Amino acid sequence: MIKINENYLKLQDSYLFSTIAKKVADFQAKNPDKKIIKLGIGDVTLPIAPKIIEAIHKATDEMAKKETFKGYGPEQGYDFLREKIVEWDYKKRGISIEKEEIFISDGAKCDTGNIQELFSTDNIIAITDPVYPVYLDSNVMAGRTGSFDKNTGKFEKVVYMPATAENNFEPELPKEKVDMLYLCFPNNPTGTVLNKEQLTKWVKYAKENGSIIFFDSAYEAYISEENVPHSIYEIEGAKEVAIEFRSFSKTAGFTGVRCAYAVVPKELKVGEVSLNALWNRRQCTKFNGVPYITQKAAEAVYTEEGQKQIKENIAYYMENARIIREGLEKSGYTVYGGKNAPYIWLKVPEGMTSWEFFDKLLEEKNIVGTPGSGFGPSGEGYFRLTAFGSRENTIEAMNRIKQ
Ligand code: PLP
Repeated sequence: MIKINENYLKLQDSYLFSTIAKKVADFQAKNPDKKIIKLGIGDVTLPIAPKIIEAIHKATDEMAKKETFKGYGPEQGYDFLREKIVEWDYKKRGISIEKEEIFISDGAKCDTGNIQELFSTDNIIAITDPVYPVYLDSNVMAGRTGSFDKNTGKFEKVVYMPATAENNFEPELPKEKVDMLYLCFPNNPTGTVLNKEQLTKWVKYAKENGSIIFFDSAYEAYISEENVPHSIYEIEGAKEVAIEFRSFSKTAGFTGVRCAYAVVPKELKVGEVSLNALWNRRQCTKFNGVPYITQKAAEAVYTEEGQKQIKENIAYYMENARIIREGLEKSGYTVYGGKNAPYIWLKVPEGMTSWEFFDKLLEEKNIVGTPGSGFGPSGEGYFRLTAFGSRENTIEAMNRIKQ
């Protein structure tokens, strides 16, 4: 009889956001007159910038004519977009990346989930804790994590690197040798960042231990402070040890359009094997490219007008972040993040768990956030609010909390 991949059965219960959605739906059904404000899921709410919409219309029209119609595109992405990325995201910041090192995809979720396929299941993985759940879950599915220990809330073979208020959200380098290191900065969920000196230590560790860093910088466009790297390749030598993931989702409101990219430098090798060649092989086999219309939309991000418009949207969200941060502080909460990321990470009141705080906030203030424990064991005792709501709802949420 056919057997399933039993590793899937080790995944922890239901996905965080479906549990939240169910709780919210139940509450709304019982309280139909209550206006619930959702600051839970990290999804953008502003419409796509006009310059990008214009490009989408134009590309759609091209599809309608025999002369300009496009079928399958290159699996790696069209050169017109790869070249713009090289120029605007890297060259302008003094980083040299070749277009063949850029792989356009339909999401950083897929890329960060798929990348582990290139590596042996014997490798030891290390994740910062708390963090975006995809890194861990994709490794659970692959059978790299061992069994789950209900008492600790951890997988046997995974190295968890706590990032909490106690260490100022700078995770410690692993004491043991690890092979695959997942880093996400600006961090989801804590909203915190590492500066250049701090990130340099990780590149050094990877070099000394023969490890690879998977650097997720999906939120780099939200960085406002100096000395915070937007790319891991701002650190010398990182091209020999790191793969970077970027996304248009939060940068340009593409969560529903779907476009992202991975950078796999040619210098990156395991023994004699080029990871660029391996990822190329993987993509050509399993992926048929991002739609032409989508890539044209992404190309429009790299124009003066496109940049101005997406930055206005980001500024809007970051003003929400400021309102939340200051609002919570005035109400006596200890808050982190929200300066270089659209996430605000708050300490829940003493003696409460993250889920208890979730229920209290939903029932008493009709506000939805995300319990920190959903992002890893070290997220317990914390709670995430996002700056992606409307201004009106953000202000109202803070007024409700103040009362
Ligand atoms: N990486 C991080 C850290 C995220 O928080 C998210 C989305 O929330 C993603 C990747 C997914 O990005 P995409 O929409 O490109 O799949």
